[in-house]
Amino acid sequence: MEYVETDGARIPKLGLGTWQNTGPECTETVRTALDLGYRHVDTAQAYDNEEAVGDGIARSEVDRDEVFLTTKVWRSSLGYEDVLDTVRGSLERLGVEYVDLLLAHWPHPRVPVAETLDAMTELYESGVVKNVGVSNYTLTQLREARSAAEIPLVANQVLYHPYKDQSRLREYCAANGLALVAYSPLARGDALTDDLLERIGDRYDKTAAQVAVRWLVQQEGVVAIPKASSRAHLEQNAAVFDFSLTDDEMARVRDRTGSLEVRLRNHLPALVRRVPF
Ligand code: NAP
Repeated sequence: MEYVETDGARIPKLGLGTWQNTGPECTETVRTALDLGYRHVDTAQAYDNEEAVGDGIARSEVDRDEVFLTTKVWRSSLGYEDVLDTVRGSLERLGVEYVDLLLAHWPHPRVPVAETLDAMTELYESGVVKNVGVSNYTLTQLREARSAAEIPLVANQVLYHPYKDQSRLREYCAANGLALVAYSPLARGDALTDDLLERIGDRYDKTAAQVAVRWLVQQEGVVAIPKASSRAHLEQNAAVFDFSLTDDEMARVRDRTGSLEVRLRNHLPALVRRVPF
């Protein structure tokens, strides 16, 4: 496993996404992933699966302290007391004494970020939260959060995949010692049949999914958290540290964000996007 080192955290570059995976299936996925070598699991209060994720960690052969566990406070709970209360609930559901990373899931227009971060800092100081960060923050919002925070923020978790340009945010994070955690790294499935990713993958005997994840984890400061349920997908997504993309391949995938097809994909309504290009 490779890691992103931030001011305080050592974050495995590959994590397991768990959104829309709940109940016994989620428990089994988490247990299998840890047994396959994953050491980073991403959940959230809003995913309705913290208990299942905690069960998966408890049932695996891997010690709790070897797992980097992230949860997120939902946007309706970002007030001071709500953060303290809901994180106590998260710890109980997860069945753990601490989480490795606590994120504010989405910025809230009416709750000052300083108020949220004060509560998160209190949890950090009491030891139940090892690191603090944000999610879905723009560059401007991230700057504001960092200047309001009394402790270093270690990550911003945002949408990032071959059809989404995050170069400004990525450069800012890398320059300031934060991890950029890429969610929906497979573009929620859209990247799985991408011609360019498939063609590049053929050179290395890898799938389009593996090229998409490799493209992310090969960038400085970037962590990817693909969601997978089956053992086959879990294994495939983890097998991305035994090959490297050339500079030219990295650039060709990056340039996809500027193509007409991708700009249309990003701007047309979802229904129209289903029409094959
Ligand atoms: P994703 O990881 O881009 O795509 C997941 C989809 O790809 C699933 O349908 C999965 O199917 C399939 N898949 C995975 N590996 C595959 C492979 N090797 N071959 C073929 N298909 C494969 O989508 P995501 O769930 O939106 O994002 C990942 C994680 O990011 C989430 O689970 C969550 O933890 C996090 N997230 C965070 C936010 C936020 O606001 N902070 C928002 C969205 C997501 P199977 O399940 O059948 O394997």
